[in-house]
Amino acid sequence: MSTRIPVSGAGFRPYEVIVGRGLLESLGTRIAPLARGRAAVVTDETVAALHGPATLAALEAAGLRARLLTVPPGEGSKSFAELERVLDRLAAFGLDRTDLVIALGGGVVGDLAGLAAALYMRGIDFVQVPTTLLAHVDSSVGGKTAIDTHRGKNLVGAFHQPRLVLADIDLLSTLPRRQVRSGWAEVLKHGLICDAGFFDWLAAEGAAGAAGDPSALERAVVRSVEIKSRIVGEDEKEAGRRALLNLGHTFGHALEAELDFDENRLTHGEAVALGCVLAFRYSAAQGLCPAGEADRVARVAASAGLPTALEAAGSFHADAVLKRMTGDKKAEGGRLTLVLARGIGDAFVQKGVDRKTVAAFLRAEGAA
Ligand code: NAD
Repeated sequence: MSTRIPVSGAGFRPYEVIVGRGLLESLGTRIAPLARGRAAVVTDETVAALHGPATLAALEAAGLRARLLTVPPGEGSKSFAELERVLDRLAAFGLDRTDLVIALGGGVVGDLAGLAAALYMRGIDFVQVPTTLLAHVDSSVGGKTAIDTHRGKNLVGAFHQPRLVLADIDLLSTLPRRQVRSGWAEVLKHGLICDAGFFDWLAAEGAAGAAGDPSALERAVVRSVEIKSRIVGEDEKEAGRRALLNLGHTFGHALEAELDFDENRLTHGEAVALGCVLAFRYSAAQGLCPAGEADRVARVAASAGLPTALEAAGSFHADAVLKRMTGDKKAEGGRLTLVLARGIGDAFVQKGVDRKTVAAFLRAEGAA
């Protein structure tokens, strides 16, 4: 049993996200119509060891010539150096425009392989086979690809939509629990943005999904992808509505940056969860949203094992966090743009947010 979710918008060729269990072995036959001869599988060393052989076997069984191109695991691989190495190995493998790049991995591999596919021979097709929960529900869908530079995360990239996303829930069985919980933060985010009923279900069944239960995960992935693909279809290039997907990210990204993106202290998903709680508490403090809703967001995040208070993540200075928030590329003209909420399932983009009010709020939340 699998679920097919169409992704379509004005500016790109439609594609499908297929969500289900035991899908990897059908990868070759599913992509055979897209690839004439070769498939270059970009992955990281950890994922290559766990899922590389089964991926190659699936491709070769469908008559494709396949090769694994591995990069070191971790954000450090979203670099010019690794991008160049991947592009060089695509050329050495003899890939041409009738061939295919496959991104087998989490968001790091998806972003890097997607950008390589966007650039190689002015753009060749690629397929996403996400292996982290974050990649299942977020990064594999929507066509954003990027690497980091010393001046910022995701600073160099391209919009390049995949031809297919194959989201095999079984690949998540090897994912460390902390990574599952991190991806769960993005699942909660989707409910918080626009689906109160989904959030109710997550509140009731969430602990099972965040603990790795495959059927809860499958349902959470399907609904998250439906929500994300609808928003991306309406606004591929983030001229408006797509910014809603940044709920929790402006606060969260600033906290991650203050901790030097040290994943041991705060993962991206943990930062997003905390950021969502802060966005709701800020909304409540401004009288935009009932305080009880903000409390409920915190309760549900905590029950999934995610942090909900600043002091759980580290010690922060309000001015330093604010500076990071303003420096975030979502800030316009030095003023703050935040995704706020009128309630669970009802987020909106607020421009021109007053910096002093945010600084006072952060102090009230425990920042120095
Ligand atoms: P990641 O890709 O670094 O994966 C996390 C860790 O899990 C890595 O060490 C990896 O080797 C390991 N791993 C992956 N799959 C595994 C599996 N099945 N079993 C065991 N280990 C596994 O991190 P991530 O959280 O998936 O992605 C974060 C990246 O995604 C960031 O760079 C972020 O900027 C990007 N991102 C992109 C978008 C987008 O729209 N393009 C959206 C959100 C995030």
